[in-house]
Amino acid sequence: MYGRGTGTGSNSSDPNATAATSSTARSRSKNAAGNRSDIGWKHGNDVQGNAKKVKCNYCSKIVSGGISRFKHHLAGTREDCEPCASVPDEVKVVMMKVIAEIKETSKKKRRLVSIKKEEEDIQSEGANCKKEESINRTIATA
Ligand SMILES: [Zn+2]
Repeated sequence: MYGRGTGTGSNSSDPNATAATSSTARSRSKNAAGNRSDIGWKHGNDVQGNAKKVKCNYCSKIVSGGISRFKHHLAGTREDCEPCASVPDEVKVVMMKVIAEIKETSKKKRRLVSIKKEEEDIQSEGANCKKEESINRTIATA
């Protein structure tokens, strides 16, 4: 009697308590800190609380597809969604810069990888370039 009662009681309560607190704390901090620091959240509101639908502060339109697509909405790039009709020019310019910077950083990363390849290509392409030039001239004159 004694052994059963105390044994099951202490074993079941302890692991449950620790598991519940640690798992909720982890998932919360990941979602909140990762996405809400983005500059896009200054101009829109999270509709569903999962950062997938953003309501525009200026035209009240809901942009689905996350904060990066919402920035395209503000910048008016027309790449991923309709441009915003009511966004102030200041904000528009800032968003265009942000998007351009994101593109630049992704380009630089690619460049670092392909620099060696490009150097090899330039050396071997020297002969080909002259050929192409003469072909273009003949086309232009004809
Ligand atoms: Zn808008």
